[in-house]
Amino acid sequence: MKTALPEIAPGADGSRTSTPAERRPLPFLNHEPLSPAAVRALDERFAECSTLDVLQWAWERFGRRGAIGTSFQGAGLVMIDIARRHKIEFPVFTLDTGLLFAETLALKTRLEDFFGLQIESLTPDLTVEQQARIHGPELWQRNPDLCCTVRKVMPLRDKLCGLDCWITGLRRQQSASRSGIGVIELYVFDEASGKDIVKLNPMARWSREQVWDYIREKGIPYNPLHDRGYKSIGCEVCTQKALSGKDERAGRWTGFNKVECGIHTFLPKKVDFEI
Ligand code: SF4
Repeated sequence: MKTALPEIAPGADGSRTSTPAERRPLPFLNHEPLSPAAVRALDERFAECSTLDVLQWAWERFGRRGAIGTSFQGAGLVMIDIARRHKIEFPVFTLDTGLLFAETLALKTRLEDFFGLQIESLTPDLTVEQQARIHGPELWQRNPDLCCTVRKVMPLRDKLCGLDCWITGLRRQQSASRSGIGVIELYVFDEASGKDIVKLNPMARWSREQVWDYIREKGIPYNPLHDRGYKSIGCEVCTQKALSGKDERAGRWTGFNKVECGIHTFLPKKVDFEI
């Protein structure tokens, strides 16, 4: 049975809060930093809002100082589709570790054609071969945290230097470690310079079923590995099929006490100073 899609959820008064698709001019950019209290208030407000409403707010607030980061899991694709249909033209980037499945690389090209956009690939400073020379072969077998830091966290950090808002496809249902995410969060990016970064998770409330209903309904290209039993897809050497009944991300880093690659955990949350 199909589940209701929260693409255009009603507002608190029951009205539809989203405007129809139209070409939007690049919005006025407000660079005033958001305080933790303002972010908390926004998070409460966004609990009532659709994914589209949240994306529209971010587009008006940040314009192209915001960007969508995706590894082409289902939720990220839904979010890009909603944005494109409503002329919200956030840049899109992905992390290409040099160790992705061939199917994932092929999907990137298919998605660029489907959405009519270029997806920027962020690559590590070290090739896989250079990493092997410096840290030894197959670092992911011995120290996956270091491998993820080199191949994912550092390229992402470089990218976030030039952004004020990082938009993700994280969902609360994905795993225990993601069950408490906010729709909007504020992180300390660089304490010395005072730079913070807003992280937006407009897909937080979506279930896996809602994501896949949307993808099928709109005919969005997706990774064929999902049809072969992979629920969450990362680097080929660290991804296995997840057993049914387990977390969606249970097939990642099997054999290690590791559930996140680090890109969602390396920044400290910004909190109010409390006495
Ligand atoms: S997922 Fe595995 S191979 Fe990919 S960067 Fe992390 S440890 Fe390395």
